[in-house]
Amino acid sequence: MSFQVFGLPVSRGVAIGRAVLVASSRIDVAHYFIDEADVDQEAERLRLARDAVANELSTLQRDLPADAPPELSALLDVHLMLLRDETLVLATRQWIQDRHYNAEWALSAQLEVLARQFDEMEDDYLRERKADLEQVVERLLRAMARGPSTSYAPAPGVRPRDFAGEDPLVIVANDIAPADMLQFKRSVFTGFVTDVGGKTSHTAIVARSMDIPAVVGAREASHLIRQDDWVVIDGDTGVVIVDPSPIVLEEYRFRQRQSGLERDRLSRLRHTPAVTLDGERVELLANIELPGDAPAALEAGAVGVGLFRSEFLFMNRGGELPGEDEQFEAYRAAVEAMKGLPVTIRTVDIGADKPLDRMSANELRHEHALNPALGLRAIRWSLSEPGMFRQQLRAILRASAMGKVRLLIPMVAHLSEVRQALEAVARAKQQLLEAGKLCGDIEIGAMIEVPAAALMLPSLLKHFDFVSVGTNDLIQYTLAIDRADEAVAHLYDPWHPAVLKLLAQTIADARAAGKSVGVCGEMAGDPAFTDLLLAMGLRNFSMHPSRIAAIKQRILRADTRQLSPHVADVLRSDDPEATAERLFNRRAVAAE
Ligand code: PEP
Ligand code: MG
Repeated sequence: MSFQVFGLPVSRGVAIGRAVLVASSRIDVAHYFIDEADVDQEAERLRLARDAVANELSTLQRDLPADAPPELSALLDVHLMLLRDETLVLATRQWIQDRHYNAEWALSAQLEVLARQFDEMEDDYLRERKADLEQVVERLLRAMARGPSTSYAPAPGVRPRDFAGEDPLVIVANDIAPADMLQFKRSVFTGFVTDVGGKTSHTAIVARSMDIPAVVGAREASHLIRQDDWVVIDGDTGVVIVDPSPIVLEEYRFRQRQSGLERDRLSRLRHTPAVTLDGERVELLANIELPGDAPAALEAGAVGVGLFRSEFLFMNRGGELPGEDEQFEAYRAAVEAMKGLPVTIRTVDIGADKPLDRMSANELRHEHALNPALGLRAIRWSLSEPGMFRQQLRAILRASAMGKVRLLIPMVAHLSEVRQALEAVARAKQQLLEAGKLCGDIEIGAMIEVPAAALMLPSLLKHFDFVSVGTNDLIQYTLAIDRADEAVAHLYDPWHPAVLKLLAQTIADARAAGKSVGVCGEMAGDPAFTDLLLAMGLRNFSMHPSRIAAIKQRILRADTRQLSPHVADVLRSDDPEATAERLFNRRAVAAE
């Protein structure tokens, strides 16, 4: 039966595909595709884990003290029975074989299917066996974590699309950790739906960077949608239609074709310089997560990388951090791929909704710091790990000998942090010099993401060559809204007068000091803000490569001489969105 669920549209377009439910297990489960040739080996991992758990349970049962309550032995019997039940192991094997999921993912997918069957049982006793099943699966997952593992990523050159079956697939999950998103980035999925998350949660940002439709904050979606259901994800309106009727499906297929045509049209602007009607040159740069994203940035016509989110190099590594040489190779790869264009590398921004391991933002929020967004993240984390920080700085400085590299420090709020960070850079340079290693001229910039930094900009500017406004966090911290929390997502408002005032002031202060200023938050890639940002004096926008063409189109039609006089009116207004719409005479297009 067809039904709809609603969430926040975070990445435009329409996706149609079969649902792949990514279960949130109590223990950390990696999700990746395995190579065709590894199917048997993966099934063998599952078999070994089952044997190990069967042994464990039998030993436990054998060693039960004589006075142990009889229920305990009965419970172990139930666990052994569930373990041997073919609907668990055989069906899990089937997921490995048909979909090429890694064994852990296959097992959690099957758990999801069985858990629903238990939920629907009439008999209380049987329904309650779901908890036993979860425990058995947890034991199996732990056994697999101890046993031989497969490589985490698909083999080079393997395109999961080749083997993940005929139908397009969309992901449905409670939450997706940024590290898992990174894995999915190289894979087959054509859309995402999550129960939690806000418009600028990192899951949403990665979905946009993949340029695939996504809806987050859809609350019950992962409970209501079943494995393999047909799902339409409308990334423009936030509607998710499950089991659509043929007429609805046809309507959405038509929209898919239309957006394909629009995309082709925009891509023709690729090599046109971004110059306004009155001759103002605007730099459109790319935000990237991995060096492998650089070719797409070039292809989209970016004139450089405005934000390389280096923390993605630190994820999916089981807690082990990349060393200096490994980082250097990654930065060098990005610099070389950009063929002489500047690459802005941000030092690691770990913390808040970007944990080091695969924990999702939601789990992190509940299990660790009370307010992770206000906790040890970004430059605060780096300064608390001086060895790691200096390694990263050395790697970035070495890459600066290979091309034009700019260093960007995230979440600066205190002058003491500035002093410490700059001292660390100086020390790293000195170490390279002593080791006879090359290091180029490097500009150092600060991200303006905390109201404190925006308010004290003139003091900060004395220490930096440039600044880049991270509007995602600036909004979060100005409005006290956790950007990853769907419960307050309706209050996350880039049009809030306080946000716009801070933004305008930052651009004006930087320009007055003769320093370069850019915006690299999501506002830069949202055409609804292009005119206003141009009017405020912004000439440097950094965004996902997929957004560049649409923003360029706006810029080509803009005349800054006509736009600029209206800034004061917008900033004075109680409803800046409506005022901007009226004055700039354009329909604001939400997240085009
Ligand atoms: C921002 O905060 O706007 C930003 C660009 O950084 P991130 O989204 O990675 O926190
Ligand atoms: Mg930020």
